[in-house]
Amino acid sequence: MNKTLYLIKLGEIALKGQNRGLFEKRLKDNIKYKLRPYSNRLLRQKGRLFLEVDGEAPLATIHHALATTFGIVGFARAIKCNKELDAITRSAIELTSQEHFLEGTATFKVESRRSDKSFPLDSYGLSAHLGGAILKAQEGLKVSVREPDRTLYVEIRDQAYLYYSPKGGLGGLPVGSAGRGMLLLSGGIDSPVSGYLMAKRGLKLEAVYYHTYPYTSDEARGKVVSLAESLSPYLNSLVLHIIPFTPIQLHIAATSPVREHTLLMRACMMRIANLLATERSCQAIITGESLSQVASQTVESLAFTNSLSTLPVFRPLIGLDKGVIIDMAKEIGTYETSILPFDDCCTLFSPKHPVVRPNLETLRESYAKMAIEGLYSEALEKREELHL
Ligand code: ATP
Ligand code: MG
Repeated sequence: MNKTLYLIKLGEIALKGQNRGLFEKRLKDNIKYKLRPYSNRLLRQKGRLFLEVDGEAPLATIHHALATTFGIVGFARAIKCNKELDAITRSAIELTSQEHFLEGTATFKVESRRSDKSFPLDSYGLSAHLGGAILKAQEGLKVSVREPDRTLYVEIRDQAYLYYSPKGGLGGLPVGSAGRGMLLLSGGIDSPVSGYLMAKRGLKLEAVYYHTYPYTSDEARGKVVSLAESLSPYLNSLVLHIIPFTPIQLHIAATSPVREHTLLMRACMMRIANLLATERSCQAIITGESLSQVASQTVESLAFTNSLSTLPVFRPLIGLDKGVIIDMAKEIGTYETSILPFDDCCTLFSPKHPVVRPNLETLRESYAKMAIEGLYSEALEKREELHL
């Protein structure tokens, strides 16, 4: 079978100690899952993974798979040969004669690395030898050590590997290596970014959306589904739970002071997320909150919602300015969906003058007075579960 070879660079994983194998296995499984329509094989070597994939697989598909996998810091299509000088020289000339290498290339350099120290030439000697051979074979090219248009990389390991123009990966740790988390996903800008950041640290996510139909529209729901779809490639797959939230909102409105509505609603979201997380074997809750962005995100407000969670609550955006979060949303591809005009937070239930610095005990009493927890099991039972 005709195969395509990729060299994959590992970042933080390569620095792990005893349990490095577990991280590498998770990464291999994640890549294999993404490329499951094509036969593929992954081999591990110090600081690298080598992927051999069916030659029929479109390059764009492979690139997309590797470019969206956390734990990879870079990758490149590569060729390999015996680690003998003649064979390496032939391969170097073959690779640098490719139209793709030559396109717009006036200058180049060779950078060699020798993991196998028994190889007769040192890195500098090998680079100099290959540079000379390439100059002879490609008359138009010149060497520039400082600012080459292209660099040919050569790595001497069990065999010799050659590649150029490596692409950057996302870094982070493989999804699933850190456990499982439940993301509170709204239609806004923040929560998708928040989920992305925690997935990047290795959490496998599920997401929950509280839908207050008909006060919030079907379009608002559609927006959350498309946000979940945008996140899904980073996560391999994503289960989205859509919870019917209207009876709970109406109950809050009927049984508590208007100024406390938003915070009590947050409290209910937190409690239900805890129940759902436990049912789905998640060990943490994730929200898109950022300190003092709105009244429900002051220190006092966060202390209250936090106090209702038995699981750790991760808020990776807590210290980030909105501008930074917006830039990240653009980069990960969720921004355009997030700014669609269908509002999630129905104005009907949002007080004009919410409490900003709530007293923890007063709020906890208001929450208890509502006697609302009896409604949770029905909300959970009637949820919709989308596998994206
Ligand atoms: P976002 O941009 O993520 O909507 P936001 O700045 O609009 O955030 P809030 O509306 O106050 O902030 O929500 C704070 C957090 O609470 C959100 O980041 C999200 O994690 C969660 N959240 C809010 N509304 C919902 C909802 N309808 N369903 C699920 N989670 C929600
Ligand atoms: Mg919001």
